[in-house]
Amino acid sequence: MNTNRAEAERLLAIGEKLLESRDLNGSRDFAILAQEAEPLLEGSDQILAIVDVLVAAEKPIHNSQLDWYAILQVDRTCQNLDLIRKQYRRLGLLLHPDKNPFSLADHAFKLVTDAWAVLSDPVQKALYDGEVAGLVETASFWTACPYCYFLFEYPADCEGCCLRCQNCERSFHGLSIPSLPPLVPGQEAYYCNWGCLPMGFVFGTLGSNGPGSVPENDPNAVSNGAASELGSLSARKQGRPQKGV
Ligand SMILES: [Zn+2]
Repeated sequence: MNTNRAEAERLLAIGEKLLESRDLNGSRDFAILAQEAEPLLEGSDQILAIVDVLVAAEKPIHNSQLDWYAILQVDRTCQNLDLIRKQYRRLGLLLHPDKNPFSLADHAFKLVTDAWAVLSDPVQKALYDGEVAGLVETASFWTACPYCYFLFEYPADCEGCCLRCQNCERSFHGLSIPSLPPLVPGQEAYYCNWGCLPMGFVFGTLGSNGPGSVPENDPNAVSNGAASELGSLSARKQGRPQKGV
């Protein structure tokens, strides 16, 4: 046995152990290393197929709908049934529990089969595409102005765009913040925002290091009337983006 093959088998065994403990990214890394050490080694592509399907299933569309396209590794706009079928067959062969001895193969195989059941049926596919389009349309994200620390909610398609802060009027890059700071009961307030339809405007306090904490010596931080009344409280505000500022 040559040394490359021995090394590849060692790496693959680590990848297999990591898969058993559901460390998907770790498992993928070692499967790729094994494949690089010995491209003809059996098993690395089977582990990679499992990991890719499970990772796709862990990222549902706006946390509510499994992304069948991602599970079959095709683009969400894919209308090419032949391509979808090809991906289904390729993954089905790699994942079939009779052929794939690795942990979680049966789970990944079922996901691929379910994805195919939806996307191969024109009626189900149309229903699913409609649901996903609705989710994407109503989805939003929260972002924080890096200058005055006001928080804003924008439609999801503005993520990554250049936005203008409706408080300090400086432009900033609309990066999504993963979770909102906790609300403090009794400190919510509603406010009509000039930028859009009257919508909720909620005040909440933050920890001293939170993204919404307002530095006292920043003149922009308290330029909004409502905000200055509340001193160093941060604000949450729904806004409308102004692109291309
Ligand atoms: Zn600002």
